[in-house]
Amino acid sequence: MTEAAEPTPADLVAALPALARYLRPATLLHPEAGTPTAHGSSVGGPPLWPAGAPWPHCTAGHLDDAYEDVPLQDREIMETIDRAVRERAREHDGAHVLTEDEYAETRRIMNGADSLDHVNWRTHRTVPEPPAAAIALVPLARIRAADAPHLPWPDGTDLLQVLWCPNDHDDIQDERYYYGPAVELHWQRAAELGSVTPPQPRRSDEYYLPTACVLRPEQIQDLPDRDEIPDELHRAAEEFAERHGIEYHRGLACAEGWKLGGWPSWHSTDLIPIDCGACGTRMRHLLTVESGGDPDLSVGRHGELHVFLCPEDRSHPVGLDLQ
Ligand SMILES: [Zn+2]
Ligand SMILES: [Zn+2]
Repeated sequence: MTEAAEPTPADLVAALPALARYLRPATLLHPEAGTPTAHGSSVGGPPLWPAGAPWPHCTAGHLDDAYEDVPLQDREIMETIDRAVRERAREHDGAHVLTEDEYAETRRIMNGADSLDHVNWRTHRTVPEPPAAAIALVPLARIRAADAPHLPWPDGTDLLQVLWCPNDHDDIQDERYYYGPAVELHWQRAAELGSVTPPQPRRSDEYYLPTACVLRPEQIQDLPDRDEIPDELHRAAEEFAERHGIEYHRGLACAEGWKLGGWPSWHSTDLIPIDCGACGTRMRHLLTVESGGDPDLSVGRHGELHVFLCPEDRSHPVGLDLQ
């Protein structure tokens, strides 16, 4: 007995034509540790850059850790509060509740810090670094047009370089919450570029420095998360998937892994509309960066980073989302 091959998104669309308008081409990158050549597609490979042009730097605000010792008398107050809270918890079903006074004292001692180290008795907070401290970007991915022909390549370009600032930022998306690396796209013409040794970033988070990987690009068709399609359509798609013993999400939609194009997965939040910060147009998913595996990165607490592109103007800043 041979098992029937698993259905593809195209099979689902054939059975459910109303989904056809949602089908989008995508490239799964399948990064594998290796030695990228100067001209193939890569993750963490050597960058190419126009001779004489300056290497890009991140000028966004960067955050630093700040620690402060808790004075001895405050430490004694905190220990007294902790003891009282634990005692009351024993009497009241384990609920840890502060009285109003205890709450006020705790607030005063924390003074806006985000955590307290009870071993070394010091508070921690993140503070903005002094401005004018630019950080060299690092190469994240380099994609040849031949490996992702469905991307919206500007005329005359055949190479996309994705650079990022390997530090956390919290002020690059206006009011939309984001805490992670800053990303820049460069649509270029390979013939105008040469080898370059970029400056090292002045500081970086280790888990944002990719190890060098070669890619094994695979062209696929992708379908959207349930949040992006009408309920009835999602129900019908889910029934189709069930009949074939798979799930719609990841089985037929939101293909997993490093991906160009296609659709993002909204598995840890509900759909967040990503509108261009410059012109307000709804942006399109361009790239998913996945944690773990060979590039050995960790984004969004071992989640995935989605990079979005403005369909009106590629020079508008990218949209970023972590899942
Ligand atoms: Zn930065
Ligand atoms: Zn825009």
